[in-house]
Amino acid sequence: MSAAGHGLAPVMSGIAAMVFDVDGVLTDSARVHAEAWKEAFDACLRAHPPADKALDRPFDAAADYLRHVDGKPRADGAAAFLHARRVPIPDGSPSDPPGTDSVAAVAALKDGMFTRRVRQDGIEPFPGSVRLLKALRSAGVPLAAASSSHHAHDVLEGAGLLHCFVTLVDGDESHRLGLAGKPDPALFLEAAARLGAEPADAAVAEDALAGVEAGRRGGFGLVVGVDRAHTTDTARDLREHGADLVVDDLADLLRAPGTDPAPGPDGKE
Ligand SMILES: [Mg+2]
Repeated sequence: MSAAGHGLAPVMSGIAAMVFDVDGVLTDSARVHAEAWKEAFDACLRAHPPADKALDRPFDAAADYLRHVDGKPRADGAAAFLHARRVPIPDGSPSDPPGTDSVAAVAALKDGMFTRRVRQDGIEPFPGSVRLLKALRSAGVPLAAASSSHHAHDVLEGAGLLHCFVTLVDGDESHRLGLAGKPDPALFLEAAARLGAEPADAAVAEDALAGVEAGRRGGFGLVVGVDRAHTTDTARDLREHGADLVVDDLADLLRAPGTDPAPGPDGKE
C-alpha cells in the first residue's frame, strides 16, 4: 500500500527507512533531565551554600537548565552551573561516587536520579510521535533510534516505544564502535546501515542543531527538524543547519484528517 494509504503525508512518499533522535523528538525527557538536575544541584547547594548570599538560591529548572545545562555533556553542565554559583567544592574525578562533595559527584548524583525517575515513573512520549511511528510501522518502514545519550534505551523503554525500533544506536554503542558525536553523521549512518537503507532513501528526525547538521552531512534524503522550543529563531536555525523541513510535532508528517488519499477523478491527488 502507498504511504498515503497509511496516513502519511506526501513528503514521506519514497522514504524507505527512518532514523529518530530520542530526547525531545520522541519523548518529553528534557523535562525529566531538568528535574533530576534540580534534585542533585539543590542537595549540593544545601550541603555547600555559596558564601555570596546573592548566589544562594535553588536551581531554576527552567532558566538555569537552559542557560547552564541543556545540550551539554553531563560533566560540563554540572561544572557550568556549580561554577556560576561559586559552590566551594573541587571538580573531582569521573570515578567519584554520587554525592555532593565534588562537581563530578553531583553529576553522578544527577545521573542516578534521572535513571531512577525513568525506571519508576516512565517517560511520556509525544502523542504525535507515537502516531507517526504507528503509521510508519503499518507502512512497513523500518525504524531506528539514534542518540548520543547512554540513557536512550531506558528512555525508550520507559516511554513504551522500544519495540517500535529495529535497532538503537545509543551512547554505549557509539562508544563501543568509536563513532564520532553529532554533528558528525556517524550515528545516523550506522543506524541507516543497520536498517539496510541508503541514506538518500531514508529520513532523519532531530530537534538539535547538531543533529540536523549530522543528517545533512550524512546525505539523508529528508532531514526533519522538530521545533519544540518555539522561539522566534529555532525554525530558522534548524533550516540553516540542514533541516529540509521544520515541524512543531511529528504528527505534521501525517496526512491531514479529511484529506482524501485516493487519486481524484482527474487522476491527480
Ligand atoms: Mg534531541
